[in-house]
Amino acid sequence: MSIPLSPDRVTIVEVGPRDGYQGIGPFIPTETKIGFVQRLVAAGLSRIEIGSFVSPKALPQMRDTAEVLTACARLPGLRAQVLVPNERWGREAVAAGAGALVFVLSVSETHNRNNVRRSPAESVDEYHRLLAAIPPETAIRLDLATAFDCPFAGRVPLKTTLTLLDRLVASRPEAEICLCDTTGRADPAHVADLFAAARERFPQVSAWALHAHDTYGLGLANVHAAYRGGVRVFDASFAGLGGCPFAPGATGNVATEDVAWMFARMGVATGIDLDRLLPIVRDGAAIPGGLAGGRVRKALHAQPVACVAAT
Ligand code: MG
Repeated sequence: MSIPLSPDRVTIVEVGPRDGYQGIGPFIPTETKIGFVQRLVAAGLSRIEIGSFVSPKALPQMRDTAEVLTACARLPGLRAQVLVPNERWGREAVAAGAGALVFVLSVSETHNRNNVRRSPAESVDEYHRLLAAIPPETAIRLDLATAFDCPFAGRVPLKTTLTLLDRLVASRPEAEICLCDTTGRADPAHVADLFAAARERFPQVSAWALHAHDTYGLGLANVHAAYRGGVRVFDASFAGLGGCPFAPGATGNVATEDVAWMFARMGVATGIDLDRLLPIVRDGAAIPGGLAGGRVRKALHAQPVACVAAT
């Protein structure tokens, strides 16, 4: 996957249909999921993580990802990606028509064992098996969960993340690499330091991305720090969907509308039409069982949307 290098253009990857939905208990009807993707594309979101191929026992909300993928394959202008935790589900995703896979592993040993029941080193081996098993033209993104902080082990040293990347980058330098602040405890200095170190160590990687959560209110600050450090791809979730209904205080990804608003105010193009996005965001915030976040949705609620671009 490649990123635009223009200083005044960024790509927002909409991950609400995966990271935002996966913790929602009540099943979101497949037609509703497809409808949201259609509307998000119409609002200018050209890259959307439409779901994950994982055990339906582990994440029942994601059990219809193949159907959503099939329906969305016909949408012009959409590059759909799906998350996979291992080779087996990666092959299933490709068989279902996926052209872009997101392989996830955690930097933290404890988190990776909890998530995929392997050590990080074993997940690197799994990544290599996945690459060998799928068509070479399949676009690949690597999501490094807990790249900054682990819910069990705390702050992750830069060296731990960089060392894990050594073998991952060597096998597929053109893969997009997304450093994920899974807990939301990263801060702008940490984000700047890790991306600077990673870009210096891996000059062959051109596509870096940040996956920020807004748990402590630092989501946008972290996006901005990464942007200043040269990152041009950012994950975000419409309405800030995410978090866990059973974990008080936990919130979702940084909200798509907040990131789009910030960049619009900075004069940085995202391709997103905020006038079209806001009604979708309001509907997203009303999904039964969902936990919405973000600020722009509420701030603009009582204002004419035409004010969005005013200075
Ligand atoms: Mg996440």
